[in-house]
Amino acid sequence: MNQIQKTEKNFKFEAFWTDHEECENIVRRGWEKEDIQGCVWKGITRRIENCKEELTNWTRRKEQSDNHRNPSTSEDKREIWREVWSMEVPQKIRMFLWKACQNILPVGSNLYKRKIASDPKCQICLKSPETVEHALLLCDWARAAWFGAEGQWTPTAKTVTSIGNWIVECIKKLRAGGGENQERRISKLGFLMWEIWKTRNNKLFQQQEINPRGTIYRAKILEAIYWKLTDTQQPHKKEGNYSKTNLVKWRPPPSNWLKANVDAAFRKETGTGAIAVVIRDYKGRIILGFSGKIQAKSSIAAEAQAIRQALIILNNLQMDKTLIESDNLKLVQAIKSNTPIGEALAIIQDIRILMEMLPEKGLTWTPRNGNRLAHAVAKAAEADTLRANWGTNPPEDIQIIIGKEMHQ
Ligand SMILES: [Zn+2]
Repeated sequence: MNQIQKTEKNFKFEAFWTDHEECENIVRRGWEKEDIQGCVWKGITRRIENCKEELTNWTRRKEQSDNHRNPSTSEDKREIWREVWSMEVPQKIRMFLWKACQNILPVGSNLYKRKIASDPKCQICLKSPETVEHALLLCDWARAAWFGAEGQWTPTAKTVTSIGNWIVECIKKLRAGGGENQERRISKLGFLMWEIWKTRNNKLFQQQEINPRGTIYRAKILEAIYWKLTDTQQPHKKEGNYSKTNLVKWRPPPSNWLKANVDAAFRKETGTGAIAVVIRDYKGRIILGFSGKIQAKSSIAAEAQAIRQALIILNNLQMDKTLIESDNLKLVQAIKSNTPIGEALAIIQDIRILMEMLPEKGLTWTPRNGNRLAHAVAKAAEADTLRANWGTNPPEDIQIIIGKEMHQ
C-alpha cells in the first residue's frame, strides 16, 4: 500500500534541469545510488525517487551558493517563479522567461563560461560582456526598445540587479499603479522581452538589421493575437455562465449521411414521459421528426426507448447511412459494450437486434448542447405543447434551434 501511494505522487520536474550540464551527472548518481534487486517496477520507482532527491538537494545547494557568491543580486526564486508562471503569455514565452531568470539562456557570457565561445562580449554593441541582463535589458538597442514601448520602462545598469528581480519589480509597480487590465499590461513585459530575444538572435544568426521599433511592433502583434485567441476561447465571466460546454454545437453528419438525434423527457413521480427523434441531413434540414408519449421505469430506460424508436423508424423506412446520437453517455457505452442495465435490459436487447438489421449505421454520444433540438422536442411533447405537424410547422422556440443549427 505504501509503495502505491508513493508512485502516485507526481514527480515534479523543473524545466531548467535539462539545461544544466551538471544535472546529467546528478541524475546518473541518483540512478546508480542503490544496488536494486527484485521487482523491476519497484526498482525503477526507487531509482526515480533517488534521482528526484539528488536533484532537489542539488537545486537547494545551488541556490544557496548563488546567493552566497553574489549577495547583492540575492533573489527570491519562489516569488520570481510565481510571477513568471502566472503571467498571461503563451507557454513558450513563460518557459523562455523562466530560463532567463535561471540564467541559462545561451548568451555570450554563459557560452564563454562553458567554453563554447571564445569571447563573452556582446556581439551587437561590442561594449560589455553579454549577460542575460545585458542582452535583454541593457544593450543600447534593447534599452531603446523598452523605453519606446508603451510601458516606457527604463532599465539601467544601476536599477537592474538581475533579470528576475527586475521583472518582479516591474510587476509590483504595475500592480501598485492599479487601474484596469493589469494582467494584460503585465503580459506586455513578457511579449516584449521575447521579441527582444528573437531580434537579438535574428541579428546574430541571420544578420538581420536591428530596429527597436520593429521589435515593439512585433511584440504588440503577438500580444494582440494571443488576447484575441484567449478572448474567444475563454469568454469573460460577465457574459453569464457561458461555459465551454455551451460552445458545443450540433455536429452535422457527413454529406451522404443522415443524423438522428434522440432524447427523452421523463417524470419519475408518474413514470411517464416523452421521446423525440429528429432526423436531419448534413445541412441541418429536418428530414423527419417523431415524438411520442411513453411509460418507463427510469430516465435511462426512457432514453433507451428513444434510441429504439429511432432504429424502428430507420428500419421501416430503410434509411441506411444514419448516425444515431444520444446525450446519455452511460447508455451509449452500455449498448456498445453490451453491459446490462437492469431497468432497460429488454429495450437494449431490442436495440442490439435492430442495429444488426441496418448495416450502415452508428451510435454516438454527444454532450447535451449538441442535442438541443431533440431535447426541446421531447420536453414539449411531454408538456403537451407540441402539435402533430411540428416537423413541418414547428413552434417558435424549436424553430430557433433548427435555424441556429442549419448550414453549418
Ligand atoms: Zn550589447
